[in-house]
Amino acid sequence: MNTVETVAPIIEIIQEIRDAGGDAFKFCYQCGKCDVLCPWNKVRPFSIRKIVRQASLGLPEIELEDIWRCTTCGTCPSQCPRGVEQIQVGVAIRRIATSYGVFPGSARALRAVGGSLAADGNPLGDQREKRGAWARGLSVEPFSEGMEFLYFVGCYFSYDPRMKKVARATVDLLHRAGVDFGILGTAENCCGESIRKAGDEDLFKALARKNIKAFIDRGVKKILVSSPHCYHTFKNEYPEFMVHFEIVHMSQLLLELLEGGRLELSGGPEKKITYHDPCYLGRHNGIYDQPRQVLEKVPGLDLLEMPDNRQDSLCCGGGGGRIWMDTPKGERFADIRLQQAQQVGAQVLVTSCPYCISNFEESRLALRDDHPLEIMDITEIIHASLQGSGEQS
Ligand code: SF4
Ligand code: SF4
Repeated sequence: MNTVETVAPIIEIIQEIRDAGGDAFKFCYQCGKCDVLCPWNKVRPFSIRKIVRQASLGLPEIELEDIWRCTTCGTCPSQCPRGVEQIQVGVAIRRIATSYGVFPGSARALRAVGGSLAADGNPLGDQREKRGAWARGLSVEPFSEGMEFLYFVGCYFSYDPRMKKVARATVDLLHRAGVDFGILGTAENCCGESIRKAGDEDLFKALARKNIKAFIDRGVKKILVSSPHCYHTFKNEYPEFMVHFEIVHMSQLLLELLEGGRLELSGGPEKKITYHDPCYLGRHNGIYDQPRQVLEKVPGLDLLEMPDNRQDSLCCGGGGGRIWMDTPKGERFADIRLQQAQQVGAQVLVTSCPYCISNFEESRLALRDDHPLEIMDITEIIHASLQGSGEQS
C-alpha cells in the first residue's frame, strides 16, 4: 500500500503528531477500552487504538478510509486510563493527508467543502451575499458597538432550509424577550471548527482571523450562538489567537430569560419528549443541566431520559467533518439514536445542534417507520410554547 512514508519524511510525520497531541499517545498500553466505547463499533468494526499505535510508530496510513471515521465525539479520550489524546492524534494524521491532498473514498467531499469555505465562508456551496437572507422581514439589525449580544448565526442556520426555521424562531424569541442583539450578516464566516477537525488547519486559521477581525472592529464582547460547534471553537480555540469573548449558547440564554421572567410560557399539548446531548455541548463543554432545566419549565412536557444520556450520550455522527461525508445506510449512529428515543416512548426528540438535527431529520425520513418522531431544536420547542406564539417563519 502506498502509505504516507512514500510522500513525506518520517520525521515530519512524527513532529506533526507530537505538535498536535504532545507525547500523550505514547502512553497507550493497548487496553482497547477506546474501541469498546467508540460508537463506530455499534455499526461496524473500527479501531482508534490501532490508529494511535501506528501514529506512535510514525507509520500512519493516510490512504485508509478509517482515518476519516472519528467524529471527535469525545467519548474515548474522556475515559482512556492513560490520558491518550486520540482526537488530536487523529486530526494530526488528517492534517498530513490534507497537506498532501490525499482524500480517499467518502472524504473526497472535503475538497468542495474547502473551496466553498475559502471563497464564500460557508461549507454548503452558497453565496456569501445570501448569508443574511434567512432574516428577511424580521427586523434584525447589523451588530453595532454597544449592543449587548452579537448573535453569531452560523452556517447551517443561515443557509439550510430546515435550520433557517430555527434561526427565525430564535430572533422572534429574542425580540419578545427584549434582548439587545445584532448580526454580522455577510461579514460572518464559518467558525471553522469542523474543517479544523477534518485536518485543514490553514483554512481554520484564515476563517478564525476573519471572524476575530469582524468581532474586534465592531466592539463585540458577548457572542450568542445556536451551534455547539461555534460555542466550542469561540470559547476554547479562538483564545489561541490571544482574544477572549464571552460565549453564550442559546440553551443557556433561554434558561436565564425564563428564570428572569422575560419569557412567559403557556405550554401546548401534553407531549413526551427526550433530550439528546450534542457532543460539543455536553462531553466537550459540560453543559448538561441547563437544557434540561429549560425543558422542565414547559407546562405539559414530560422529559424522559434515554439510557445513553449526558456524558454517555450517543454521537449523532456529524462531528469531525463527518457531516460532509456520506455514511452508508446501516452505519448511521443517528438511526440508532432515533430508535433509542422511540424505545423510551418519546414523541419529540429535542436537541440543540444543527448537525444533530440534520442527521436526525435524515434518519427520520430514511427509516419511514410507524412511530413518527418529531425532531426539534430546543429553541423551537420554547418558541412554540410562548404565550401568544404565532408562526412567523
Ligand atoms: S483506552 Fe487509551 S490506553 Fe487503552 S487502548 Fe485506547 S488509547 Fe490506549
Ligand atoms: S472520539 Fe468518539 S468517534 Fe472518535 S475514536 Fe473516540 S469514541 Fe470513536
